[in-house]
Amino acid sequence: MLHLNKDIRIQTLRASWTKGMAVDVLRLDELHPVVSGNKWYKLKYHIEAMIIQDREVMGTFGGAYSNHIVAVAFMCRFYGIKSIGIIRGELPQRLSPTLIQAYKLGMDLQFVSRTAYQNKKEIQDRFDKSIYWVREGGYSLLGMLGAANILKENDASQYSHIICACGTGTMMAGLLFRALPTQQVIGISVLKNNTALESDILRLLPKELSDTKITLFHDYHFGGYAKHPPALIEWMKALWQECNVPTDIVYTSKLLFAVKDLIEKNYFTAKDKVLIVHSGGLQGNRSLDPHILPF
Ligand SMILES: *Cc1c(COP(=O)(O)O)cnc(C)c1O
Repeated sequence: MLHLNKDIRIQTLRASWTKGMAVDVLRLDELHPVVSGNKWYKLKYHIEAMIIQDREVMGTFGGAYSNHIVAVAFMCRFYGIKSIGIIRGELPQRLSPTLIQAYKLGMDLQFVSRTAYQNKKEIQDRFDKSIYWVREGGYSLLGMLGAANILKENDASQYSHIICACGTGTMMAGLLFRALPTQQVIGISVLKNNTALESDILRLLPKELSDTKITLFHDYHFGGYAKHPPALIEWMKALWQECNVPTDIVYTSKLLFAVKDLIEKNYFTAKDKVLIVHSGGLQGNRSLDPHILPF
């Protein structure tokens, strides 16, 4: 259960809609079915910081379907560290598959009302001072530095464009930090109207990179965070059938759709080489009826 596949593939996308362009997918989803590729990278330095500071418990925040929550539970289990997950909303009648997984991995789940959840500081004050807190979604400098290692461990130097999904933007900041000056990094926001995303990303970058052009698209959220209308599900099925790429309902299906749409709108030129970062998240599909997806 805790075995990681460090043999990450770069898969060439063979689809009718690529117009013969070079489009590849970095399959970080294959790192592990539970700890999505990008979460592993984003949390690694936090774990190391804890070990150095001799801290025994990691605490964090998230919703019932949060990939971040389950990733923290996984990483802590992997490193023999205790974890606490502060979950938004009262204890439900039925736990989500994500929370069941986190619980099985040993996370101490603490449910707080939506109102109380707003005040993270107050919640933290109720716990022991020695707890190492990681922000909701893992937004942090250490997370950015960890995500930069995606491009250290996987050679992407041949690509003109690197494209990823954005929640907090931490991963995109890491990709920008490590990308070559000639490369363009593109982010697809999965939230509706997240106007703070650009400044959130810039805040994680060092001063020397503060004039970096941040290329974001905000129109591929399919109705909002975690919304998955039938058109998105159909797209996920078609993508799987044609290209053998499994995607999740929150991030990567929307990312891949954006790539297709941008190609169709001639955003890229025929010479461009595009690397899509498949950041994982497939565990989130467990919240769907098991017959819905063919993978
Ligand atoms: C968390 C997550 C993201 C978003 O990462 P950020 O660094 O918060 O932008 C993207 N893809 C998947 C699969 C995720 O689980």
